[in-house]
Amino acid sequence: MTTLAPRRQTRQLKVGPVGVGSDFPVSVQSMTTTVTADVDRTLQQIAELTTAGCDIVRVACPSQDDADALPQIARKSQIPVIADIHFQPKYVLAAIEAGCAAVRVNPGNIKKFDDKVGVIARAARDHGTPIRIGVNAGSLDPRLLAKYGRVTPEALVESALWEATLFAEHDFHDVKISVKHHDCVVMVEAYRQLAEQCDYPLHLGVTEAGPMFQGTVKSATAFGALLSSGIGDTIRVSLSAPPVEEVKVGSQILESLGLRPRKLEIVSCPSCGRAQVDVYRLVAEVQAALDGLEVPLRVAVMGCVVNGPGEAREADLGVASGNGKGQIFVKGRVVRTVPEHKIAETLIEEALRIAEATC
Ligand code: SF4
Repeated sequence: MTTLAPRRQTRQLKVGPVGVGSDFPVSVQSMTTTVTADVDRTLQQIAELTTAGCDIVRVACPSQDDADALPQIARKSQIPVIADIHFQPKYVLAAIEAGCAAVRVNPGNIKKFDDKVGVIARAARDHGTPIRIGVNAGSLDPRLLAKYGRVTPEALVESALWEATLFAEHDFHDVKISVKHHDCVVMVEAYRQLAEQCDYPLHLGVTEAGPMFQGTVKSATAFGALLSSGIGDTIRVSLSAPPVEEVKVGSQILESLGLRPRKLEIVSCPSCGRAQVDVYRLVAEVQAALDGLEVPLRVAVMGCVVNGPGEAREADLGVASGNGKGQIFVKGRVVRTVPEHKIAETLIEEALRIAEATC
């Protein structure tokens, strides 16, 4: 089987039961959009993210009310919870005490305002709580901005490694790092340089990637470049869209790269002047009916006999259309020939039958 470059060798972490690092599969993260203190709504959204395939969830913790909600959320969530904290060491300590699986905080911010980095390092070590250092283009240290003139890959990497040394000084190394930028080229180069210069696991993200379509393309492009060369241990697709969509896109990126077992995959042609069926309608009907299928299934929907039989034969299930009819293939063999208006329902019926037999 053709595979990508081997994973970059990293230190290993445990975010709750989820292993993070080169010994473990790349995991998908997202972040809730509810007010964290609203425990019911936050847990409801976490449940939706879990169902969509999210491995680890992050919740913002900007207030004491949010910090107070963390024990209940950490206890009741089905997936590990990371508390996202800026500046306030007391919330970091509260999150660690609350049983959060990890904390995202930059020690540089802590050091600047109230130097409790050593206290945090000790508490995190005592509780086995890893910490993510997240360097973002938008909040880069002014000192580095002045040094580099703008947010460059080198500036992001220097900032991240400096942050990591603040914990390393206290003998705390249970750290993963992100260096996010909205520009894919800067982001990819920053991660490449960071990967060369440390062995911490890396969390990939294109920050402020934008609305659904643009954010999906940018994240897939940047993550594809990095993951295909073995760089990246967790990913978060940032979209200006409901977080469930982030998880779907993240899962699809990993599936496309063979880094997560495939579920439903529709192999469909773009249609052209030779098409003898309405490919778009057929694909939309099959996709809508089979969305969320939990078993691996490749369905080929092809518009004519040029590539149709070949692709349909290679898939678990497929149709090659022509002359107002569709030849239905299952595991490489023609099992039925149906009139055009029956193609969609026959494919769906066969897909569900295969899925049931697979379960
Ligand atoms: Fe065109 Fe047929 Fe190819 Fe579809 S399978 S793109 S209809 S040639």
